[in-house]
Amino acid sequence: TQSTRQTLVMGNWKLNGSKAMVAKLINALQTAATQHPAVAVAVCPPVLFLGQAQALLTDSPIALGAQDVDIHNEGAFTGENSAVMYTEFGVQYVLVGHSERRTLHGESNAMVAAKFATVQNAGLTPVLCIGETLAQFEANETQAVVERQLQEVISHCGIESFAKAVIAYEPVWAIGTGKTATPEIAQNVHAAIRTFLASLDATVAAKVQILYGGSVKGASAAGLFAMADIDGALVGGAALQADEFAAIISAG
Ligand code: PGA
Repeated sequence: TQSTRQTLVMGNWKLNGSKAMVAKLINALQTAATQHPAVAVAVCPPVLFLGQAQALLTDSPIALGAQDVDIHNEGAFTGENSAVMYTEFGVQYVLVGHSERRTLHGESNAMVAAKFATVQNAGLTPVLCIGETLAQFEANETQAVVERQLQEVISHCGIESFAKAVIAYEPVWAIGTGKTATPEIAQNVHAAIRTFLASLDATVAAKVQILYGGSVKGASAAGLFAMADIDGALVGGAALQADEFAAIISAG
């Protein structure tokens, strides 16, 4: 990353955890976060554990995130959770458009853009997840895919909306597969994302944090963070192991 942007390390716990595990993991991470005050740290537990996490994180530098959101703030939408409700639980970040939501729940770019807007309207920070599949990567379509994913949000919310948002570039072929993109591959895409945004608003493009996600581990984090346009990581599997996640924080 560049010194103008703070490194952000965010853990996406997905559908994992228990009350005992939340307590253990959060307590273990407090030390790592406190020892590296220059790095912003956030965790996204399952919604059921937000209340417990909020209580454990009182006076902590670790921020809370949610993994998904509905586009409605309230009403007859059985099973959903709203951004306005998240504000009562100290949530600061909300992931939108994670590849598992896109593939397993059929979320379109338009739906993701609507979620992005809902999160911002509630005063929270959307973390827009974008990235290509293996087939798209092999067909050299990465740039076209991520530009399409960004464009939908720009059309819906305006380029200035990225002044209060985070982008997470997560190549689908690297998620949960153990195949991290090399720092060079990731940096190329991150730079292309920033150039694309800069063609619309240079100030916004220079400020926005672009995280890398996909099998990030303690051992691979430093190489990624050394790249000019990689401003942190969105971490899945390794975020469930306190020592691995702490190592990623230390690399920031
Ligand atoms: P992973 O997941 O680190 O387990 O690859 C990343 C993500 O899905 O955000």
